[in-house]
Amino acid sequence: MKFQTALREPAHTPPAQLDVEEPIFVTKPHLPPLEDFIDTLRQIWASKVLTNGGPLHAAFEEALARYLGVEHAVLFANGTLALVTALQALRIGGEVITTPYSFVATAHALLWNDIKPVFVDVEPDTCNIDPELIESAITPATTAILGVHCYGNPCKAARIQQIADNYNLRVIYDGAHAFGVTDVGGSVLRHGDLTILSFHATKVFNTFEGGAIICPDARTKRLIGHLKNFGFVDEVTVVATGINGKMSEINAGLGLLQLRDFDSVLQRRKALYEQYLEALAALPGLLLPTPEHATKYNYSYFPVRVTPAFAISRDDLYARLRRQNIFGRRYFFPLISEFPMYRGLPSAAADRLPVATQISREVICLPLYPDMTPGDVRRVARAIASARDEANQQ
Ligand SMILES: *Cc1c(COP(=O)(O)O)cnc(C)c1O
Repeated sequence: MKFQTALREPAHTPPAQLDVEEPIFVTKPHLPPLEDFIDTLRQIWASKVLTNGGPLHAAFEEALARYLGVEHAVLFANGTLALVTALQALRIGGEVITTPYSFVATAHALLWNDIKPVFVDVEPDTCNIDPELIESAITPATTAILGVHCYGNPCKAARIQQIADNYNLRVIYDGAHAFGVTDVGGSVLRHGDLTILSFHATKVFNTFEGGAIICPDARTKRLIGHLKNFGFVDEVTVVATGINGKMSEINAGLGLLQLRDFDSVLQRRKALYEQYLEALAALPGLLLPTPEHATKYNYSYFPVRVTPAFAISRDDLYARLRRQNIFGRRYFFPLISEFPMYRGLPSAAADRLPVATQISREVICLPLYPDMTPGDVRRVARAIASARDEANQQ
């Protein structure tokens, strides 16, 4: 049998050089073994409890808070609804100081609450809101600061809290990138009045769609629990204009399986991240990310900056990689402040946001996901190096 296979082999040998290699996408979601998820589905089919706080929801909510090392988590259908609801729970209005360098949902959640976003510039090393610029953006209408732990880099939370205390402002964090990240005091998700998470398919931890609010006390957790369920407190009593933000049993059951896998997912991400750092270190003009702001990092993204000192522009490199079937993402580009519903704001002017504007013109997030192979990383690194070499020869 073996002998026969060997004889047949030459006919199956692929051509030595394929013109177009397999695509490498910016991310590919981690999923647990399908058999395990089928067991979860059997449980749901047996219980017939599909949503409204079933047993898997309760189990995942508890396991999530324990895994993250936070007091309380409240599960949501997605991160955007969690953020819209967090603003409602704290009764935020007026103006909120935030960052233009984020996913558009950060600011959209403000507009959905009829709140005026006030953009301030970011720090070059973390890409997070620059605390030293917050004070000058405060007006009598300011009620809160909305920070984003961009790429999982922790915000300077102590400094932000100090300013908030001085001006009696609330602090909310969009922690959509910060799953599992810690600083010297523990989980970065403990900072501020509330922090939201996203478990969207593209995030480092996914439940297909999903999200959560991390909150410090049981009373706030109860309030948020009402708000995500139309404002119902019992069968006949509605106490607030709530929304439907509930996570279903399917997503919660998947979340339990994903939690079990997350440590090994992080290990694989870390190894690939470090391989990238080494492989790209010798390319002048290419600024590499710096994961050392966190005591435990989640290796969620690998953002490089293609500076003017690099041989070709960011957009040329981006397009060249695409032609080689390597799909990075210009994340974040454009800035939130450049979208039509924001660009008329005085705080949205590019000359007031020089750092964010520059990063946005230079950034590419390179592919990074747990199933990527060391060979894939080598292929991306080689493609970047040869783009530079060819440009330098011309
Ligand atoms: C993904 C993301 C969101 C939105 O989360 P969804 O779960 O997709 O609604 C919000 N903010 C940031 C920074 C994100 O990356």
